[in-house]
Amino acid sequence: MNCPRCGCAIPDFSGLDPALRARVGAQVRLGHCVAGTQTLVGAAGWSMRDAKAVVSHLVASPGRCRKCRGPVADTDVTECPRCRSLNLLW
Ligand SMILES: [Zn+2]
Ligand SMILES: [Zn+2]
Repeated sequence: MNCPRCGCAIPDFSGLDPALRARVGAQVRLGHCVAGTQTLVGAAGWSMRDAKAVVSHLVASPGRCRKCRGPVADTDVTECPRCRSLNLLW
């Protein structure tokens, strides 16, 4: 999966522990993006590059685009209709 806006490759996270995924999502919603990245690297064993790619596309407030703050669908994976950025909701 690639972000249509920045071309960034989003790693496959289907094998990720749902509890871990929820933890990272919660960290990002609290504004703790660095902590979220560290969780993916430390607890899930991801590379720093993969962790950063995902964290930079996780929505901080559901329904708001990560990049342009425009309204987006409140689903797990959505593409912003305004800026085409991929938004992941964990
Ligand atoms: Zn992107
Ligand atoms: Zn957007």
